[in-house]
Amino acid sequence: MAEIELRHVDKHFGPVHVIRDVNLTVKDKEFVVFLGPSGCGKTTTLRAIAGLEEIDTGDILLDGKPIQDLRAADRDIAFVFQNYALYPHFTVYENLAFPLRAVGTGRDAIDTTVRSVGKSLGITHLLNARPSALSGGDMQRVAIGRALVRRPKALLLDEPIGSLDAKLRETMRVELKRLHFENGSTSIYVTHDQVEAMSLADRIVVMNDGILQQVGTPTEVYLHPANLFVAQFIGSPVMNIAPTRVSQADGKARIELESASFELPPELLGMLEQKKATGDLSLGVRPEGVLVSHDDQPGYRAAEAHLIQPYGGFDIVDLRIGTKTLRARTTSGYVGKVGDRVFTRIAPSQAHFFDTKSGASLDIRLGD
Ligand code: ATP
Repeated sequence: MAEIELRHVDKHFGPVHVIRDVNLTVKDKEFVVFLGPSGCGKTTTLRAIAGLEEIDTGDILLDGKPIQDLRAADRDIAFVFQNYALYPHFTVYENLAFPLRAVGTGRDAIDTTVRSVGKSLGITHLLNARPSALSGGDMQRVAIGRALVRRPKALLLDEPIGSLDAKLRETMRVELKRLHFENGSTSIYVTHDQVEAMSLADRIVVMNDGILQQVGTPTEVYLHPANLFVAQFIGSPVMNIAPTRVSQADGKARIELESASFELPPELLGMLEQKKATGDLSLGVRPEGVLVSHDDQPGYRAAEAHLIQPYGGFDIVDLRIGTKTLRARTTSGYVGKVGDRVFTRIAPSQAHFFDTKSGASLDIRLGD
């Protein structure tokens, strides 16, 4: 059992307010990913949990017991760094054995553990090699293995595969997921790569400027972003965001984006009223929510293809509707060439409305 809790954690580095009143519970066996842009405080928060960084105020609890005053070595939490930090003169076997020797584990128990961890990481054949002879992926496997040998209560990983090439990162992502599935240790993983976060996390913690923006499953943060920051940070290509005005027209809700206007179900008007949305609004719609048709159907607007980016399995097409450009996702080759005339509408269930000033989502959920 290992539940990690942060209560009102705050930290400055000189004048820089790095962690701002962070409250979070990571449940037993959960895999939580801290995601955010460079400098938002992910690593500092992780290091604070490990005891590698002091906090100014607040509490850090492991299984309900405050640990913020304990030394890192006494917290029973393992940390995996991006730069591996292996002992270069030791073999892989000795690197894996080191944390066990340091606490006086017997030879036979060390041998059993090192071989079992080596097997689960697929590095048995490398046990006699030195780090200099290993590839980046294998070095990171050893670094993770070294963190696992002591069976820590929790495992913290700071961009552990960030320095590997794209293909190897993909392989390692799958391995990390399998490893977590087998080990089940409570894990916190730091990355600025949203694909990594989406594919690995039970829950994602989106951070910006030392503040938790949203905590939710990958599906929650993707489908229901809490604010404009999360909406634009998660998803590639990014969500279309534009200032909008909403009015009633012909029994429908009409949304205006510059000179373009679209229809949405009339329920939108009542929902906006209920949310007391009186300030400026922004509409957000992901490219897959911008529907494209060759035919002029009711509710569709004429548009011109302005740019086509083939992604293999699908295309991303920039559509010009009057002065407005919207990015749509279509099946591969659906729009033949730049300049083609097509028709488009916004899928109601994919329309997000935000208060432009505060950035907060109005959490309006329309049906299609
Ligand atoms: P990255 O992905 O680039 O590592 P991050 O989100 O992990 O970014 P942190 O490394 O936690 O962010 O840094 C948060 C802020 O604290 C940054 O402005 C950074 O410059 C600052 N900072 C980090 N460590 C120190 C330190 N030891 N002394 C002073 N400032 C620091």
